[in-house]
Amino acid sequence: MLNSKEMQPPGSGANPDVYDLIQPGPLQSALFFETPVEIYARVLKDLKPRTPLPEIRVEYRRYANANSSIRLESGCLTVKIADILEGAPAPILESLAYILLAKLYRQPVPGLYARRYRLYLNRREIRQKLQLVRQIRGRKFVSGPDGTAHNLDDVFERLNQAYFDGLLGRPLLGWSRRISRSMLGHFDPSHNVIVISRIFDDARKPLLALEYVMFHEMLHLRYPVDHRGVRRRVHTREFRQAESVFRRLAEAKELLKKL
Ligand SMILES: [Zn+2]
Repeated sequence: MLNSKEMQPPGSGANPDVYDLIQPGPLQSALFFETPVEIYARVLKDLKPRTPLPEIRVEYRRYANANSSIRLESGCLTVKIADILEGAPAPILESLAYILLAKLYRQPVPGLYARRYRLYLNRREIRQKLQLVRQIRGRKFVSGPDGTAHNLDDVFERLNQAYFDGLLGRPLLGWSRRISRSMLGHFDPSHNVIVISRIFDDARKPLLALEYVMFHEMLHLRYPVDHRGVRRRVHTREFRQAESVFRRLAEAKELLKKL
């Protein structure tokens, strides 16, 4: 993904090269025989010992993602969990309960549970399941490569010849629905699509800027996201190295600041 944040100088955020490697902590209690409702009741008692227990409902929903939500309405606590988490180990469901209930009561989410939950979602088999669910259940709007000023297939093939020996398989290419300045381009591996902001479909805008954004997204096609531990590293060192080969890179980056 390429957004305006990426135009910030490197090193302004957290160091992307440092992994937050953690050991899963000891389990807090014997919880393997609890139903989801019992887990929520126990976690609620832990977070709000004096609050009387509401009626609790936990439902699994068919979502195209791993989202979950919680609601407290007229004495009934309703939790909706993406069905991709059905059958997740009890400590993961417990972690999610802490996350959702802490959010509901505007308390900080205990770090142990936040990390345990993220580690689980970052597991390879879960990511693969998620990708499949997105493909099957998610819908994606793709405009097609033809714009008013440029054809994205042509831009792609030119860069493919210049930088990849023409070997990169062409994904679906499309223009964003809206003229976005914050999201200049993104690659969606679930649908194998590169979407480019319509802001570039303008003969008055420099072609170099469009080419750089396309090149950046082509590198995402070429270098998959690095998932290790909790972190998701999108722009790996390998990625940055490959990007530095782009001709007039500094000039292109300057252009993006002035769109
Ligand atoms: Zn990117």
